[in-house]
Amino acid sequence: MIAILKRETTPEQKAHLIDWLKHMNLDVHISDGDEFTVLGLIGDTTRVDMELLNSLEIVESVKRVSEPFKQANRKFHPDDTVVSIGDVKIGGGHFAMIAGPCSVESEEQIIEVAQAVKAAGADILRGGAFKPRTSPYAFQGLKGEGIRMLLEAKQATGLPIITEIMTTRSLDLFEDVDIIQVGARNMQNFDLLQELGKTHKPILLKRGLANTLQELLMSAEYIMSEGNENIILCERGIRTYEHYTRNTLDLSAIPVLHELTHLPVVIDPSHATGKASLVPSMAAAAAAADADGIMIEVHNNPSRALCDGAQSLTPEQFDQVNKKVQKIREAIR
Ligand code: PEP
Ligand code: MN
Repeated sequence: MIAILKRETTPEQKAHLIDWLKHMNLDVHISDGDEFTVLGLIGDTTRVDMELLNSLEIVESVKRVSEPFKQANRKFHPDDTVVSIGDVKIGGGHFAMIAGPCSVESEEQIIEVAQAVKAAGADILRGGAFKPRTSPYAFQGLKGEGIRMLLEAKQATGLPIITEIMTTRSLDLFEDVDIIQVGARNMQNFDLLQELGKTHKPILLKRGLANTLQELLMSAEYIMSEGNENIILCERGIRTYEHYTRNTLDLSAIPVLHELTHLPVVIDPSHATGKASLVPSMAAAAAAADADGIMIEVHNNPSRALCDGAQSLTPEQFDQVNKKVQKIREAIR
């Protein structure tokens, strides 16, 4: 971190500031120029309140030269992280296709979809049991019953399962869940992230609707700082001024995150676009841009879905998409 001091700073003020910084266990490299004094702060600057430092009367500006995320940072961990879910692996050249309905609606529904997506080549079954809906009057999910049904579908097909958690209060229900999803709306629920950090479960962390990639990585850092390194990042579209699509899919998140972090990156083209007709091309683009996995909503009867029917593919459509994605992966290998 670098702090530039104003020209009128007195030697006493400068000494006082340096003393304060040294008390935070930082080494301070001082460079006195004709116009300004530049302080280079060396050490663990993650605890430095940048805004506070910037607000001091004698400080002209403050810049971070190193990223505030450490454990997620590729600089400190050059090799790709591979997250293992039984025999399925994500990251480091391993690709996983995740498919299933937005919500678990009944045992018959989830088993039927599970069998269909498995036949089409999916590696992991998704299905929401706790649904974060914009309206409190909309279908909220089958909750614990939904997780039980997912476990039935897992038993029937052998597919590992992923489902979303909304609160630490329901953590016990997730004991047999293979991957716990943190949804976009909870990306900065730090209490939840810290509790999940104390488990060893793979966590799929979705980017918030209005969050930067650095904020996504800082949320991953919350989980990792508690000891859980099994994290999969997920780009699911961000809110922009464009209303034709539900969100705007930031595909550049894939190469940016691959540069910044060793954690695997999954793309969710369903929530990103909100329209089934747009999902195949965005899934293909994600595969071409070297995503480590793709998560797609699939329903046996999209027009009757209790949640997100408009963006859900039929199993037949999913089969086509998966074939295309696998061909693209082979082509770019
Ligand atoms: C979901 O995956 O069902 C979901 C609610 O996604 P998001 O958090 O990305 O909106
Ligand atoms: Mn959904």
